[in-house]
This record gives sequence, structure tokens and C-alpha cells, in this order.
Amino acid sequence: MAGSSHVSADARKYEKLVGKVAVITGGASGIGACTARLFVKHGARVVVADIQDELGASLVSELGPDASSYVHCDVTNEGDVAAAVDHAVATFGKLDVMFNNAGVTGPPCFRITESTKEDFERVLAVNLIGPFLGTKHAARVMAPARRGSIISTASLSSSVSGTASHAYTTSKRALVGFTENAAGELGRHGIRVNCVSPAAVATPLARAAMGMDMDDETIEAIMEKSANLKGVGLKVDDIAAAALFLASDDGRYLSGQNLRVDGGVSVVNSSFG
Ligand code: NAD
Repeated sequence: MAGSSHVSADARKYEKLVGKVAVITGGASGIGACTARLFVKHGARVVVADIQDELGASLVSELGPDASSYVHCDVTNEGDVAAAVDHAVATFGKLDVMFNNAGVTGPPCFRITESTKEDFERVLAVNLIGPFLGTKHAARVMAPARRGSIISTASLSSSVSGTASHAYTTSKRALVGFTENAAGELGRHGIRVNCVSPAAVATPLARAAMGMDMDDETIEAIMEKSANLKGVGLKVDDIAAAALFLASDDGRYLSGQNLRVDGGVSVVNSSFG
């Protein structure tokens, strides 16, 4: 009955993931940590999976043991990824959302002749093989349950070349291709597979990519100069909100998509007007 709800508008605002269980790789810092906080705020229980054990443990003590758990997980190691998924099922009973978010930039190098094979392989291992392993093991437990949302963090670099190193651009563009393929296969099991693609946003990774230790305000000022959407300013919370949309039933018919959180900069000709 219209207007008869006893739930306040504000409480409803935070009910998007009630009863859901998520694993977030790279969950100890930046976009992953912000998303973990938002998911828990919306009623989810979250496994924070990362290699930064102290940061991860401190986030979990902030979120509380009923809503979160930390697991050491190097996403390049299949045993670690399988164990993180199994940990979610053992601790919280199931897995509804896999957020393949861990990523590295590698050295801030734009010259092919100065790039090493080892650096290139390392970036692909974390940014591409990591999400493959996360998707594989999430699908292993989601398919029998006939539900699930798998989200990977790609990047503006998945749409626009020349914004990051060769290895980083390659990894993120390939990740979108993998995501589309995986969506094609896993849809029959009721599993949705999508990417979220942020433009540059102030995190430790962005500082490393820029090759120097800048404060958030300096990074935001640089980003504002190249932004299409002026005077708004991309925040980590905006990426978390996009992940929440894809994770929740709000995004229940979205699959195979690359949700670009970039103010339009990937599709707008910079010489327009
Ligand atoms: P961040 O450095 O704050 O977080 C990345 C996390 O990934 C860290 O906690 C790190 O410990 C973890 N990680 C790195 N290697 C790992 C591994 N092998 N196994 C498990 N965890 C590992 O940076 P962020 O900006 O929050 O990055 C999150 C994602 O967002 C990355 O995939 C990144 O490529 C992507 N992204 C970031 C930006 C940006 O400007 N910050 C823009 C586009 C895309």
C-alpha cells in the first residue's frame, strides 16, 4: 500500500545487500576498502582478501567480526584464490558477490624499449590472471546456487589508450574481453559478470602510477584538468557505488558490461566545443 511502509527512506537506502556474502580482492586499501565499508553498510558480510595483512586486519576490526573476515590472498596464486572463496562459504555460508579488484600499475613506464618482460608479466598476472582465477573459483560455488554477481575493476585504460603503461592498458583491455566471454558462458547459471572502469582516483595505486608521492588534493587537481565533467571530482566512493549497483539486485539484468565511472571522458572528444 502506497505510503504505508514503516521503514524510513533512510533505512531503505542501506538495504541493498542484506543477506549477501562478498569476497573483495585488494580489499585492504583504496577502492576495495571503500567498497567493503559500503557493502557492509548495506547489510553484506564481506571477506577482505589481500596481501597487506595488517591493513586488512585493521579494516576487519573496524567492520566487526560478524560482518567481515580477513584472508591473506595473493590473486596470482590459484590456491590462495580458491581458499578465499572457500573461506567465504565456510565462514558466512555462501558466496553471492565476487569483486576482483586487486591491481597493480607496475613501474610508471611508457617506453616499450624500457619495459621489461618480468614487469609486463607481473602486471598481467595480478590484473588479468587474478580476475580469471577469481571468476573461475567464484563460478565453482555460484553455479550450483544458480546466482551470483562477479565484478572486476578494469580502468579508463580499457577504453582509452595512452593513459597508462603498456602492460596496464593491455591487462585492463584484456580483462574486459575476458569479462564479456565469461558473461556469455556463465549467464546460463544465473551468474552476471561485469567490469567497473574508473578514471584516475586518489589511492596509493594512483600515486604509484603518477610516479611520485602526491597528496589527494594535488591528484584531484590534475584529474580535474583532464576531466570532461567539470566541478564534480571523482571520489573512491563513486567507484564503490558503481560496484554496489552491479552487486545488488538493482543491476539484476546487467551482464557483460563495462560500467565506466569516468564522467564521460572515455567517450567524449576532448576538442568538442
Ligand atoms: P590500492 O593500491 O589502494 O589497492 C589495490 C590493492 O590491491 C592493495 O590493497 C594491494 O595490496 C592489493 N594487491 C596488489 N597486488 C595484489 C595481489 N597480488 N594479490 C592480492 N591483492 C593485491 O589501489 P586502488 O586504486 O584502490 O586499486 C584497485 C583497483 O582499481 C585496481 O585494479 C586498479 O587497477 C583499479 N583502478 C584504479 C584507478 C585509480 O586511479 N586509483 C583507476 C582505474 C582503475
